[in-house]
Amino acid sequence: MIPRPFAYHAPDSIGAAIALLSDFGDQAKLLAGGHSLLPMMKLRFAAPEHLIDLRRIKGIRGIDMQGDEISIGAMTTEREILASPLLAMHLPLLVETARQIADPQVRYKGTIGGDIAHGDPGNDHPAVMLALDARFVLVGPHGERVVPAADFFLGTYVTAIEPDEVMTQVRISKPAVGSGACYAKLKRKTGDFATAAAAVVLRMDRGICADIAIALTNVAPTAMRAEAAENALRGRPVEDAAIAEAGDLAMAACEPAADLRGDEAYKRAMAGQMVRRALRTALSRCTG
Ligand SMILES: Cc1cc2nc3c(=O)[nH]c(=O)nc-3n(C[C@H](O)[C@H](O)[C@H](O)COP(=O)(O)OP(=O)(O)OC[C@H]3O[C@@H](n4cnc5c(N)ncnc54)[C@H](O)[C@@H]3O)c2cc1C
Repeated sequence: MIPRPFAYHAPDSIGAAIALLSDFGDQAKLLAGGHSLLPMMKLRFAAPEHLIDLRRIKGIRGIDMQGDEISIGAMTTEREILASPLLAMHLPLLVETARQIADPQVRYKGTIGGDIAHGDPGNDHPAVMLALDARFVLVGPHGERVVPAADFFLGTYVTAIEPDEVMTQVRISKPAVGSGACYAKLKRKTGDFATAAAAVVLRMDRGICADIAIALTNVAPTAMRAEAAENALRGRPVEDAAIAEAGDLAMAACEPAADLRGDEAYKRAMAGQMVRRALRTALSRCTG
């Protein structure tokens, strides 16, 4: 319950936050919504000497669309995602995901950037970002770079973010007209992390699967794409046999860790079920 003492900083610009990160190195941690970092500090799994709060920085919060690109500031909360008419219209998958994350109080504080930057395989946004081919804007002392989700999740709690970088924005191309999507999550109770979950984005063309992305949550050291399952569906009708096969292929690809949510075999089986469920729902939402 009691974290170690730390110094608190509340810079009002990205530049000032990066300067603090550069000064304090691995003794510093960025603080966003605090709903992963503070619990770890209270258990003393993390004991940073400096916390750099991002809340006073303007311009890294909010949801916008330009052309076909939707941009979401890293400090945008789950609550803001749930309440966004723009996302409800153009990217309902993100709203469906946020609804299944944590609980109302946590969603008022937790941010999309923090959920992704934390690198926890149990978090829900990473798999959804992989399925949507999202891109993350990272700003450091030498400027800005854009990293695709596919290159971002390197291991449990390990991401492509350098110690002196801040994630400022998530960029997502609007899914093609007519495509359907679904995030299916199995959990023990509301507010729990997934036992297994699957994100699917699907586009059909005259009864044939024209485009498909399948990504999995909490069944490997990081969120992962289920490529063999995708390949089995692309170019084929999405019928019962193909859906069953895709579930089997996703099961074969995942590497779950046994814990209180279940052993390896159970989690693997549930990953397959979540893929099948998400595929059926995404298909029912396709209008192509
Ligand atoms: C009871 C409970 C239930 C939960 N259930 C779920 C769930 O079902 N699904 C789920 O996905 N999450 C769940 N969470 C986690 C929650 O969504 C967190 O808020 C989220 O994981 C982290 O976001 P945050 O803004 O709170 O980040 P913080 O806790 O502030 O930060 C997390 C990490 O990311 C880093 N970081 C944060 N922002 C940035 C940035 N912009 N650039 C670079 N690094 C950054 C921090 O330095 C820190 O290392 C739950 C949390 C609680 C307390």
